[in-house]
Amino acid sequence: MSGPSPSFPESARVALANTQLRRNMGYATQTIRAKRALVVDELPDWEELRETGRAIKESVLRHLDEHLEALEQSVTRAGGQVHWARDADEANRIIAGIVSGHGATEIAKVKSITSDEIKLNEALAARGIEAIETDLAELIIQLDGDESSHFLVPAIHRNRAEIREIFLEHLDVDELSDDPRELAEAARLHLREKFLSARVGVSGANFAIAETGSVLVVESEGNGRMCTTLPPVLISLMGIEKVLPTFQDLEVFLQLLPRSSTGERMNPYTSVWTGTSEGDGPQEFHLVLLDNGRTAVLRDEIGRQTLNCIRCSACLNVCPVYSRTGGHAYNSVYPGPIGAILTPQLVGIHAAESLPYASTLCGACYEVCPVKINIPEVLVHLRGKVVRHKQAEHSGWRARLDPEAAAMAAMARVFSSRARYERAQRLARLGQAPLARRGPISHLPGGLMSGWTAMRDLKALPQRTFREWWVERDGSRADA
Ligand code: SF4
Repeated sequence: MSGPSPSFPESARVALANTQLRRNMGYATQTIRAKRALVVDELPDWEELRETGRAIKESVLRHLDEHLEALEQSVTRAGGQVHWARDADEANRIIAGIVSGHGATEIAKVKSITSDEIKLNEALAARGIEAIETDLAELIIQLDGDESSHFLVPAIHRNRAEIREIFLEHLDVDELSDDPRELAEAARLHLREKFLSARVGVSGANFAIAETGSVLVVESEGNGRMCTTLPPVLISLMGIEKVLPTFQDLEVFLQLLPRSSTGERMNPYTSVWTGTSEGDGPQEFHLVLLDNGRTAVLRDEIGRQTLNCIRCSACLNVCPVYSRTGGHAYNSVYPGPIGAILTPQLVGIHAAESLPYASTLCGACYEVCPVKINIPEVLVHLRGKVVRHKQAEHSGWRARLDPEAAAMAAMARVFSSRARYERAQRLARLGQAPLARRGPISHLPGGLMSGWTAMRDLKALPQRTFREWWVERDGSRADA
């Protein structure tokens, strides 16, 4: 996963200028949000389910090594093969090696964000292998040379009329309306042939069960079921954090995930397979376990909760920032609030330092997250890391020349001493006089300070502080 560039504010500005995109995003996120709220309200024990989901995930992360080893043994016992990939290059090499080993030049693929993270399609293309996306939305963006902007609805930024244009241009059809049924039928006819001819299927994994070696994919269109059952060889790519200890744990997550993601009580298709079975489905199964920065995230006590994510996308749909800018502004395969905390941890804070600021910290994401990831807490934690990273980068004389760093250093000195703080208050009261003649200060001078009042007024300091009032009232020094 390469580091995003340009910065979030630069890309957001471009996205916000696109009124069609904003209209599409607003409509789509509001619709999914309302559907989710309805089905979540049906469950009286929703909060208990969230808490249980969080607790299971937290315990998994604490014993991740044991669960992964147990998973490897179970998959192997069931006739599958497990591969460990340290990073994107290694995972791509493994997958391309298996595909080439079977002489295949085409694979049928189920939507997988993890495969987007490692840029699998591009890596396969470089080796002469074509990856056919079989999820309707993924197919749309693949045909258009576009990129996904949502976990579940990758083409959320496209409307029906735009999709019709893309199909007319790239599929073998002469006439087509923008009726969703006609659009889906055109895609179905195009894909059917691919399912039947593909010799290798590639999927992601929503969960894998350590005790049985079962791998699970949930989806809505049936294309996942086709990809995981029709080709004679199946490769599943999975981030190491997706393991669950027991089959019974699915009871919790298969309630949390569909309600939080598509606003459904259950997913239309839930495919579970355990190794291989003679005469039934793929006769060769490979599970690729991907690290790609995850063990580094695990080391961070606050940041590690990010790995609890089950990619439901509920946080995207409620985010006031994402629902206006869309996913491309994040310059990462992981958009929205979860992307703002996951990407900087996976690629390094230096490569994504604007993302922790792509939030108003309103907390809506935390409220809906089915596994209770405290996204605002991680955002603030990462902002601290950005500041420390910048300080380390600009140490010595360069730091002293940086106005923001110098201002922060002065503030730190003032706040660390009561006497200095009181002196600064008296000075600021004198200094603000010309600016606060009519009450609140609506304009601060200077490039740095004027930014503060560009969007809001600054309350003027009172003529007397609480402490001063207390001393005068009491006739003694206030120590409280
Ligand atoms: S952070 Fe929570 S709400 Fe957001 S995608 Fe992950 S699990 Fe869903």
